[in-house]
Amino acid sequence: MSSLPENFDYVRPATLDQLSALVTEYQQKDRSFAFSAGGTDLIPKLKTRLLNLDSLISLNGLTELTGIEKHAHHITIGALSTLSEVADSDLISQYLPTLGDAARKVASPQIRNRATIGGNIMVDNRCSYINQSPINRESHSPCFKAGGDVCHLVKSAKRGDEILCQARFVSDTAPVLLLLDAKITITGAAGPRKIKLAELYLNDGIDNKNINSGEVITAIDIEIPDKCRMDYQKLAIRNALDFPSLGVAVRLSDNGVSVALTGLNPRPGVFQADTADYDSFDNMIAAICAEAMGFAVTYQQDFFPRGYRKDMIAVFIRRGVDRIMKESKT
Ligand SMILES: Cc1cc2nc3c(=O)[nH]c(=O)nc-3n(C[C@H](O)[C@H](O)[C@H](O)COP(=O)(O)OP(=O)(O)OC[C@H]3O[C@@H](n4cnc5c(N)ncnc54)[C@H](O)[C@@H]3O)c2cc1C
Ligand code: SF4
Repeated sequence: MSSLPENFDYVRPATLDQLSALVTEYQQKDRSFAFSAGGTDLIPKLKTRLLNLDSLISLNGLTELTGIEKHAHHITIGALSTLSEVADSDLISQYLPTLGDAARKVASPQIRNRATIGGNIMVDNRCSYINQSPINRESHSPCFKAGGDVCHLVKSAKRGDEILCQARFVSDTAPVLLLLDAKITITGAAGPRKIKLAELYLNDGIDNKNINSGEVITAIDIEIPDKCRMDYQKLAIRNALDFPSLGVAVRLSDNGVSVALTGLNPRPGVFQADTADYDSFDNMIAAICAEAMGFAVTYQQDFFPRGYRKDMIAVFIRRGVDRIMKESKT
């Protein structure tokens, strides 16, 4: 991998107030900037020249964004908590064990020791044509995501048409957080606001997050479920390194079943089936499998054949349901 570009400043504010002042200054001076938490997604983008910046703002000095705490009915996870901290937390193991499982499935231990949960829900979408070295990318003309006017994956696509960039959503923790109906606190020039995590994601591989430039996620809040009957499974060639070719989270409740998908479309898929709408449990599971498979857009931009990834959605949903039911009996 290439070295880092030399022409950007590195700043590390110690408080949210300092961060806010820096952002205001850069915006007034029209300086381009990005936030780095663990840097495990951002630094490779700088090294491969997918990103050019005037300033890199490290969030690592913001102790306000750290820690995992239990309140009366919910758990708050500071956005700077590393994935290792989430995976090893006693609170997460006790109340939200599937979130710990999903965090453990991200990349390798070395990466999880640096990577943060805030960075994980904000990780950029990926495509086999763009997440490459500059030399590889030079072999074809720049695509929409690289500022060009062509999509190599969907050759007929025109920017502005219904078919947008299909770079895939790849976060491993987001599907579990989505089924837990997590809320995120975002802070920026207009002060703090709280939104559902589901509202963060957009259906475009380029403009894939509903967050303004200069806004920072400070925390994730999750209501403690009565029973956390959940499962998360991941399809990847090398489990200790690769992004999900497919990730499926399943949650069973007294009212029905919900499913969330990653690794396929530009945004995560979330589906719900209510027991009351079906004459049998099996029919409810068959319906949610069909709905999830219908949502999935699998272009050939992955190691696994597209049909196989689609078929594995139903396999993972059924396997997840079986595992949850077996665990409930023990
Ligand atoms: C070899 C390798 C394998 C990987 N495998 C996986 C995988 O299997 N699954 C997976 O999900 N990811 C994987 N990743 C991607 C990445 O490591 C993780 O998604 C990680 O959690 C990103 O967190 P970070 O703190 O390092 O993010 P950073 O790189 O610091 O930031 C990522 C993005 O989020 C923004 N950001 C970070 N924190 C905040 C915040 N608090 N508020 C607002 N914006 C913020 C940054 O500006 C940037 O745009 C892999 C990366 C590598 C290099
Ligand atoms: S899907 Fe997006 S990133 Fe991939 S080639 Fe097309 S425009 Fe580029």
